Amino acid sequence: MRQPLVAGNWKMNGSRASVSELLGGLKSGIGAVNTAEVAVCAPFIYIPDTQMQLDGTAIKWGGQDVSTHESGAYTGEISAQMLTDFACHFVIIGHSERRAYHGESDALVAEKFTAARAAGLVPILCVGETLDERERGVTEQVVARQLDAVIEHCGIDLVGEGVVAYEPVWAIGTGKTASPEQAQEVHAFIRGRLAANSQAVADATRVLYGGSMNPKNAAELMAQPDIDGGLIGGASLKADDFLAVCKAANR
Ligand code: PEP
Repeated sequence: MRQPLVAGNWKMNGSRASVSELLGGLKSGIGAVNTAEVAVCAPFIYIPDTQMQLDGTAIKWGGQDVSTHESGAYTGEISAQMLTDFACHFVIIGHSERRAYHGESDALVAEKFTAARAAGLVPILCVGETLDERERGVTEQVVARQLDAVIEHCGIDLVGEGVVAYEPVWAIGTGKTASPEQAQEVHAFIRGRLAANSQAVADATRVLYGGSMNPKNAAELMAQPDIDGGLIGGASLKADDFLAVCKAANR
């Protein structure tokens, strides 16, 4: 059985004080959340504080992006090794905001996946279609293209060492959630795509849903057979909401 995973994506939110308060709330509430794996992906600058506060708890942490390079003259970049220096476990790769605002191509995302794994990080690979793509009926083509780029570059076994997050772009931060049926359909498609390369990887790989998941809709989404947890943006910024989503993921 796949262990559910709930990962918070704080994006570029918070201050040192608000991060400390949020982590304090998560630490005191997480005791009741036991079967799901839980993580928060913090802005780089707050990762040291996150490590200090979460060390020794059941909550893991990670980054929201990573460089393809190991070190050198890459101003503003953060390497995978730097993230592991602060005991990061996860890193989000290919989030739609990075694809849209930073021009990240499928090929670059695949290179980032490789760099993350090489340092021992668990990549959370984001895939998903825009509203225009959904309305044009090309959701599966888009998701297949994004996934195949990583499978072809890294090999299916390496992909199986990561996590996939299906995040329909039209549902991110909009309050519009994919219905459980809509989400399940794409999750099943993703699992089928993995299975075409390796049934074992398809069976073992966690596929998270992301896009306005919150305490009200989490249980219904996570009851779907191919939804193994969530990547949570807005609702991860309030300890009570995030913990409620984590509880909904318990099996
Ligand atoms: C995200 O950005 O990964 C996300 C899922 O955001 P939200 O939950 O706010 O839609």
